[in-house]
Amino acid sequence: MSCDLLELALPGVRALRPYQPGKSIEELQRELGLTDVVKLASNENPLGPAPAALQRLAELDPEWLSRYPDGNTTRLKARLAAEYGVSPEQLTIGNGSNDVLELVARAFVAPGDEVVFSAHAFAVYPLVTQAVGGRAVEVPARDWGVDLEAMAQALGARTRVVFLANPNNPTGTWFDAGALEGFLSRIPDHTILVLDEAYAEYMHPPWRSGIAHLPGRENLLVTRSFSKAYGLAGLRCGYGISSPQLADLLNRVRQPFNLNVLAMEAALAALDDEDFLARSKQCNDQGLVQLAEGFDALGLGYIPSAGNFICVELPASAPLVFEALLREGVITRPVANYGMPEHLRISVGTAKENQRFLEALQRVLGTRS
Ligand SMILES: *Cc1c(COP(=O)(O)O)cnc(C)c1O
Repeated sequence: MSCDLLELALPGVRALRPYQPGKSIEELQRELGLTDVVKLASNENPLGPAPAALQRLAELDPEWLSRYPDGNTTRLKARLAAEYGVSPEQLTIGNGSNDVLELVARAFVAPGDEVVFSAHAFAVYPLVTQAVGGRAVEVPARDWGVDLEAMAQALGARTRVVFLANPNNPTGTWFDAGALEGFLSRIPDHTILVLDEAYAEYMHPPWRSGIAHLPGRENLLVTRSFSKAYGLAGLRCGYGISSPQLADLLNRVRQPFNLNVLAMEAALAALDDEDFLARSKQCNDQGLVQLAEGFDALGLGYIPSAGNFICVELPASAPLVFEALLREGVITRPVANYGMPEHLRISVGTAKENQRFLEALQRVLGTRS
């Protein structure tokens, strides 16, 4: 019976494997009977949600929950448009930025069309490509980073979309304004470049956003998220900025009420919480240094990262270290499915959480035989 159903599913869906999320705190508590669990697995903000967002949610009129949300997300678009100096027609709001990535595939990729992305890139790119029957073209990376020259050379007549994250997850590598400009000049008119900037708020110069390159470019989409620096991963809100025409096309396949009432209000409030953003960034800067120094002290290699996570290279089997860390009450992220079987990805936590992880790692590696 299940075999027959498989035959009915679209060819792309048949071969799909679902996205594997990081293990949850609750799951580990249940499995191992642990109480004090630290999760450093999904690049969430260790400081929690922006306090201004929490306050806004507490003040919300309950009637808003029984009414449909504003399907056009008017106030959020207006606020974001003012923030970036673009028009509201250039914005596409998503149920997380993942939603926007999927809209791109659904609006533009037909069976057989090519979608280009780098090795060690975000797992959602191949997922949304395959689901619509697109042909995934994975370009080898260079020193763990995106090889922009090789990416440019992989573009062909059937390349409909390029997914490119800056910085990249899970490697944390990034490229500067000059490299971006060079790459943009090689994107043909029949190809849409999706520049995924989910970690933009954590970045420092000379990193530059692609938003400045939007004027005059019909085929560029920059995506952003409230899941990381704003601490709202559980509410699901992200957005894309593009030409009005590109936004209009994405909007045609968007679910009418893809952003819920709570997410919109929280996102609006979070945008005004500059203090929280500054604290989050500082916590991340310090945490990246703390983790790198900890790896140095343990003699472990790592990939220098600009995100809120870092990949450490293990001298022992990464799955075994992952399991041993779980027994220590620390959840990390295996990245074998990203072509990185010898690494674990660690999301930056608070100073205390980072310390707890480093001590657990030392114990785990010290007792292996
Ligand atoms: C976390 C992440 C996102 C954001 O996902 P949301 O759907 O906004 O939670 C997008 N792209 C990359 C590369 C990410 O790591």
